[in-house]
Amino acid sequence: MQGKEQIYKGLAASKGISIGKPFLYRAEVPNYNMDIAATGSVSVEKEISDYTQAIEQSIKELKKIFALAKEKLDDKHLQIFDAQLSFLYDNFFHSKVRSGIEENKKPAYEIFKDEIKLLENAILASGDDYMRERVNDVEDMKNRVLRNLLKGRLVSKITENAIVIAKNLTPADTILFSNRNMLGIATDLGGINSHVAIISRSLNIPAVVAMRDVSFRINQEDILIIDGYKGLLISNPTEETIQSYERQIEKNKEFEKKLEELEKLPSETKDGKSIRLSTNLEFNNEVDYVVSHFGCDVGLYRTEHLFLEIGDFPDEEEQYKQYKFLAEHLYPGKVTIRTFDIGGDKILPDAQKESNPFLGWRGIRISLDKKDDFLTQLRAILRASTGGNVKIMFPMISGVEEVTQIIELLNEAKARLRTDKLRFDENIEIGIMIEVPSAAIVAGDLAQMVDFFSIGTNDLVQYTLAVDRDSSLVCELYEKFHPAVLRMLNIVIQGADKHNIPVTVCGEMASDPYASLLLIGLGVSELSVEAASYLQIKRLIRLVNYEEAGKIAKKVLQMNTIKKIKDYVEQCFNKNIGEKLKSYDI
Ligand code: PEP
Ligand code: MG
Repeated sequence: MQGKEQIYKGLAASKGISIGKPFLYRAEVPNYNMDIAATGSVSVEKEISDYTQAIEQSIKELKKIFALAKEKLDDKHLQIFDAQLSFLYDNFFHSKVRSGIEENKKPAYEIFKDEIKLLENAILASGDDYMRERVNDVEDMKNRVLRNLLKGRLVSKITENAIVIAKNLTPADTILFSNRNMLGIATDLGGINSHVAIISRSLNIPAVVAMRDVSFRINQEDILIIDGYKGLLISNPTEETIQSYERQIEKNKEFEKKLEELEKLPSETKDGKSIRLSTNLEFNNEVDYVVSHFGCDVGLYRTEHLFLEIGDFPDEEEQYKQYKFLAEHLYPGKVTIRTFDIGGDKILPDAQKESNPFLGWRGIRISLDKKDDFLTQLRAILRASTGGNVKIMFPMISGVEEVTQIIELLNEAKARLRTDKLRFDENIEIGIMIEVPSAAIVAGDLAQMVDFFSIGTNDLVQYTLAVDRDSSLVCELYEKFHPAVLRMLNIVIQGADKHNIPVTVCGEMASDPYASLLLIGLGVSELSVEAASYLQIKRLIRLVNYEEAGKIAKKVLQMNTIKKIKDYVEQCFNKNIGEKLKSYDI
């Protein structure tokens, strides 16, 4: 029997409405809650050869981590890698797996998992506390081998056309699930500026986060409506509710059609000031849509998905292929390619677990530690720049020293390309993301070293206010209208002005009409927004009076509370543009 209609409220993380059945995703070990694509009957030879390759690859990876960890960790922690490596060299264990495959004619991963289980049981039975702890190391190593063994064979186990209900999702889960026509996402945890939320918006999948314990309340048999505008999940809706949402879906379609009228109009204010408007891009398959509808530049291309899809750094050719595709498809539009910003909430399988990952090994810090991988990415981007429409951008910059190192490495990458007789744009522009308060404070010094700034407000807000962008517990404290955030933005813009370099805002703040009114007033020259918000923000720009926006921003910089700022901005907004924009505010 169908239950009673229930409405659950969370935070609206990605717009849109869907109606459908749930997929309850309860992932203890997320990466392996997958189906293995059928490969026909087991070929013993192939399974053994795949197993051998997976062990070799795992040894290679661990050695790489070991080499890096040596500079960073003490002997006690290094032993963990040593122990894992010695296990991977254990030929007795491997021979048991190989004969298991031969005798049982079963896939390698099954036999390997069974043998690992036996090993773990034996360790646990030893009764030795030290040995018991080693079970975690074995688990770690098991996951590494399995990942290498199953590469290319994993398919997401979620049912197609379902609304995914989960405690939490990783960015990698989200990417993988999107291949199954996911209709929506509702999670107990998470914030609206988490990378999962950003990816959902980019995939146009409605999402609601911070729903507390919704994952325990939804049943497999429920019918659901997810409302990504209001942040609602409705289980077992009445016929009346369903009809009202169906009408809303129709209305939204009409509205989107209406917005398309803006596609060809220039992005300039009412008093004729041109504000560059570009999009953020997560995946290459969004390119055609962006080109045909907006014909604009890409102000931020996040490269992390290339890493997340394979769980490792892609090689130069693979990266070159992707970047070249983008540059060619967008031409004559420009694309700003950001180097890997992994770490933080974007899982790095090789990483040591950190208690504060957002303050840890992330973004440029990883690139500067893994110089070879960084040089590989720089070479790939440079090679894709021959059309003259590529810029490079670096994430998580905290000060001058990092930029000095980056420029040295970039020069090294260029020199090597010249030696290899490979072409690139000799005048390629480089920019840095300003998203760490220390970088904002020394913006005047940094501006001398680069061609442009791009402010990453998602992180700048989190680091300025010490509020985790991912945490549902403190999401109310995550406030872009905080006076400290706005003054920080002002410092960055003044620093850039001193050396005449342009400033883009590519964080989510640029997609909010109220906030972008202030950004324009503060003197930002470009807004880079997610595709779903592009036309709404163009509409806003065309309703703004530039001079007026400057006055509003100036006044706001004198205010000392969030409330005063929000009230004032809302009042100005309603007076100047509110009514006209409202009709576009679904
Ligand atoms: C930001 O921090 O605002 C940004 C654009 O980068 P990301 O969201 O990828 O951290
Ligand atoms: Mg960031």
